[in-house]
Amino acid sequence: MEHHALTMADYPPIDPTIPPSGTGCVECLATEDGWWFHLRRCAHCGHIGCCDQSPSQHTSKHAKAEGHPIIRSFEPDEDWFYDYLQDEYAEGPELADPQHHPLSQPTPGPAGRVPHDWERRLH
Ligand SMILES: [Zn+2]
Ligand SMILES: [Zn+2]
Repeated sequence: MEHHALTMADYPPIDPTIPPSGTGCVECLATEDGWWFHLRRCAHCGHIGCCDQSPSQHTSKHAKAEGHPIIRSFEPDEDWFYDYLQDEYAEGPELADPQHHPLSQPTPGPAGRVPHDWERRLH
């Protein structure tokens, strides 16, 4: 397999002043019954999406569709970044608050939509 070496010059800029788009996955919340396991934040535009274990994997779909490869966890006590182009953990700047979803929001979430057999539905 051909491996193309990327540099940060190939990436769109990270804007640390942009706040998160909301408290849950944008695309899941736009549906009647979407739910997620964990939440991730796009470091480029603030889009909040669901993780790759979630049924709909909206964060990686956003990264591919928008060309926004750097994400950060939107879970409490997690501050790691991930790079979808390199497929590895990455470094990133301090991002605008809030740093994670509200503590009142359950994991998985959102409240009231998570099916009883949710663990079997993960990727
Ligand atoms: Zn989602
Ligand atoms: Zn984005």
